[in-house]
Amino acid sequence: MARGALRPKSPFYGSLELFTKVDLSLSRWEGREMDTATEASVIDYYENIRSDPVAFAHSCLFIEWLLCSLTGSEPSHPMFHLIGSVLDNFAAGPPFWPVQCSGIEKALRLTGFAMEIDRCVNCGEDPGGSRLWDAAGGGRVCGNCSEGSEEEVPAGIIAFFRKTRSSPLEEARRIGLWKGGYRQCFDLLKSYTEIHLDRRIKLKSLSVLEDLENDH
Ligand SMILES: [Zn+2]
Repeated sequence: MARGALRPKSPFYGSLELFTKVDLSLSRWEGREMDTATEASVIDYYENIRSDPVAFAHSCLFIEWLLCSLTGSEPSHPMFHLIGSVLDNFAAGPPFWPVQCSGIEKALRLTGFAMEIDRCVNCGEDPGGSRLWDAAGGGRVCGNCSEGSEEEVPAGIIAFFRKTRSSPLEEARRIGLWKGGYRQCFDLLKSYTEIHLDRRIKLKSLSVLEDLENDH
C-alpha cells in the first residue's frame, strides 16, 4: 500500500509507474497482509520502453506472462534479475521476439517447469535429430520412443533453445528465425505452459502486439 501515491505532491508520485525499477522501503507489521511503502527512489525509468509502442507491448507481454504463471510471493533473486535483464534488452531496441522467447524459457526453468531439450523424456538418451515433441511429457522424444502421437517441432526452434538456455539474453538477440518462426516458438511455449499449469493463459497484450505488428 502506498498512501497518497496519486497526489501530485506525494513522494511516490511518478515513481510507482509501470516498468519503473524502484528501491522501495516497506514497513511491515506482524500479522498484517499488506506492507506499507514508506519511501521510493527510482533506479530506472526505462525511457526507451515507454517511447516505443512495440517495446512497450513486448514488455507488457512478458510481465503479463509472469503474472499468469507465477504463484506465491517468495522473493527470488534469479527471477528479479531475469526480469531486469529482459527489460534492459527490450529497452535496447529490436529484435524483441528472441528476447521474449528466451526470457520465457528461462522463467519456466526458474519456476520448475523446465522443458527437456537435450534428452528424450522417455528413455533419457540423446534424441539426435528427432523433432518429436511431447509437451505433456516435458519435451523432446527420440525416434525409438515415439508412440506416433507426438507433435513435430521445427529444428530451428530446438536449436534456438539449445543455444540460448545457458547463455545471456544478449546472445538470443543474434539468432534469427524464419518469418513467423518466433511466433511459432512463442505458441509452443504457451501451449507447453498451459498443459503444465493446467489452465489457459490469456494474454491481453498479445493482441495489442499483433495489431501493432500488422500495422508495420
Ligand atoms: Zn527415447
